Amino acid sequence: MVTGKPFLNAEQIQIRVRELASKISEEYQGKEILAVGILKGAFMFFSDIVRHIQAPMSIDFITASSYLKAQTSGEITIHCDIRADVEDKHVLLIEDIVDTGLTLQYIRNMLSAKKPASIKICAFLDKKARRRADIEIDYVGFEIPDKFVVGYGLDYDNKFRNLPYISIFKEST
Ligand code: 5GP
Repeated sequence: MVTGKPFLNAEQIQIRVRELASKISEEYQGKEILAVGILKGAFMFFSDIVRHIQAPMSIDFITASSYLKAQTSGEITIHCDIRADVEDKHVLLIEDIVDTGLTLQYIRNMLSAKKPASIKICAFLDKKARRRADIEIDYVGFEIPDKFVVGYGLDYDNKFRNLPYISIFKEST
């Protein structure tokens, strides 16, 4: 079940998305971005943020998973790989949430091997307390405590992704 009032409401989210987009637009001046969304969780954040980034851009997606319901398996599976040519591109990885960091570390290493001009990471949420991988996040929407959250693209058992806000999730007993 989803508990109480939203942890982050739709308005707070949209304000922060625009702030991040404007920082990214400034820092990528004169460069073309290859924005890579990590599905499925990042679909809503991705579509919101790219429409506010003012820079030439192409887009692509990677579908990855590491969670089974509310538990990380620690094992990353890539279900659908990027199709774009990464060599010499300025890659901006767009992720819903960084927890252990293992997913992003895996994907960043995989893409680094393809010789991009640069790789940066933009994550909507950061659960720093649970980090296991040594990975730098360049743009963070919100730092959150160690709670399992749903909504705004994030799921429990593939549900709740359509909520326009973030809520804390509790399994009902
Ligand atoms: P990591 O590899 O950083 O441990 O996990 C990243 C992935 O785990 C995210 O892309 C997301 O799919 C899932 N994840 C981590 N924490 C949460 C959470 O609080 N809620 C939901 N719905 N998914 C999470």
